[in-house]
Amino acid sequence: MGINQKTINNIVRIFSWSIDFNRDLKRGDRFIIIGKRRTAPSTLIYIGKKKRVAVFSHTDKYGRLGYYGINGKTLYPSFLRAPLKYKYISSKFQLKRFHPILKTWRPHRAVDYAAKYGTPVYAAADGIIKHRKRMGALGKSVHITHGSNYLTVYAHLSRFSRGLRASSRVKRGQVIGYVGSTGRSTGPHLHYELHYKGKRKNPLTWRLPKQKRVAKSDLKRFQKRARSILRSL
Ligand SMILES: [Zn+2]
Repeated sequence: MGINQKTINNIVRIFSWSIDFNRDLKRGDRFIIIGKRRTAPSTLIYIGKKKRVAVFSHTDKYGRLGYYGINGKTLYPSFLRAPLKYKYISSKFQLKRFHPILKTWRPHRAVDYAAKYGTPVYAAADGIIKHRKRMGALGKSVHITHGSNYLTVYAHLSRFSRGLRASSRVKRGQVIGYVGSTGRSTGPHLHYELHYKGKRKNPLTWRLPKQKRVAKSDLKRFQKRARSILRSL
């Protein structure tokens, strides 16, 4: 359609919070892109068999252009820096750590939070549960996907929250389980991993996304415009 690469990359980046481009796209799905050539599009819509996603451009008071859903929020969520109330960090993200059980030096690409047995563990951000099961050395663990690029892992839990299953949706701050010492663990703590594009990153230093909202004073106007665009389609 003559859309430049930069715009296509932007569209993929924005929608990757709602659509997994490796798995979700099906023949017959449609993208609607509204705008003038050579300027950022004003509206991006994905229409698939299972879901529809629509975002609208909005410029904030600092002049930054962003894309927001009709609720006035960006598709990307905010992340908690730590997914529980902990006592202290017992092991940081490090490439060489002497493992207390295996007695060897190995990388620890995670953060260990020492906390009392039974301390509630929260989902770090809105997402979908990928696994909720016993997994070898990780013990009882929960894996949550956030968009298609982020994954968080919570290990050594004593038990899971009731009612959560693989493919359940969770909200940031929702209790997903409780601190324990299952799997390869010497005492109650949470082993927490942050994955970005399949690689483990340091949860203490990684620049995490922070959800943005259309300012309250602009929201009515923004939503009116968005609704009129949808109606005209
Ligand atoms: Zn650990």
